Amino acid sequence: MYLIMLGAQGTGKGTVAGILQKETGWPQISTGDIFRSNISEKTELGIKANEYISKGQLVPDEITVPMVENRLNEEDCKDGAILDGFPRTVEQAEKLEKMLAKKGKKVDLVINLTTPRDEIITRILNRRVCPKCKATYNLTMHPSKVPGVCDNCGTELVQREDDKDENAIKQRLAIYDEKTSPLIDYYNKKGVLITEEVSQKINRLGKDAAVDIINRIKGM
Ligand code: AMP
Repeated sequence: MYLIMLGAQGTGKGTVAGILQKETGWPQISTGDIFRSNISEKTELGIKANEYISKGQLVPDEITVPMVENRLNEEDCKDGAILDGFPRTVEQAEKLEKMLAKKGKKVDLVINLTTPRDEIITRILNRRVCPKCKATYNLTMHPSKVPGVCDNCGTELVQREDDKDENAIKQRLAIYDEKTSPLIDYYNKKGVLITEEVSQKINRLGKDAAVDIINRIKGM
C-alpha cells in the first residue's frame, strides 16, 4: 500500500510515519531526511538542495522528483511505501500518480495531520532529531530518556538547521499554506484522505493517531 503523510511542519508526520513503518514493514521515505543526508555528505545533490532548504524554500522538482522516483524503484518499495514530505504541491502529486501508474500502483491512503498553528512553532523550536537513525524527539512533549541522546542508537541529538530560525519556520509554514494545503482538497476529492488531529490541547499525540491509522489500514 502507498501512503502519504500530509500536514504542516511540526505536526508529527515523521513520528507517525516511523510508527507505521515498524507496524507495516513499508519503508518511510522522507524527502527532507534524504536531502539532509546528502547535505551532510556534501554530495552534488545536497549542495544544490541546501541553497533552497537553508532559505526555507522548496527544492525544485528537477531535483526532487527523480530522487523520489529512484527511491520508489528500489526493491523494498515494491509492496508499499510511506511518503513523508512528498508530494508538497499539486504538480508533485500529479507526477507521483504517473510514477506509481508505471508500476501498476496508486496512492491508497493520505493521512492529513492537523495541529493548531500556535502549537506548531513551539513544537518545531523544541524538536530534536537523531542524525543517524532519524528518530524525532521533543524537549517537552517527547524527550529522550537521557537528555540529548537518542534512545534507539545512543547518537547525540541535534537541532535541524532550518528549525533554528523562526523566520525560516514562518516561511516554510507560508509555503505549506500556499502550495501544499491544496493537496487536502485534491486527495479528498479522490476519496483517499483521512484527517487526524494531533494536539496537546486534546491530549492526543502522534502515537494515538498512529493506532487509528493502523486500524484503518487493517480494515482496507
Ligand atoms: P522536511 O524535513 O519535510 O520539513 O523538509 C525539509 C526541507 O526539504 C523543506 O523545507 C524543503 O526545503 C525540502 N523539501 C522536502 N521535501 C520536499 C519536496 N517534496 N519538494 C520540495 N522541497 C522539499
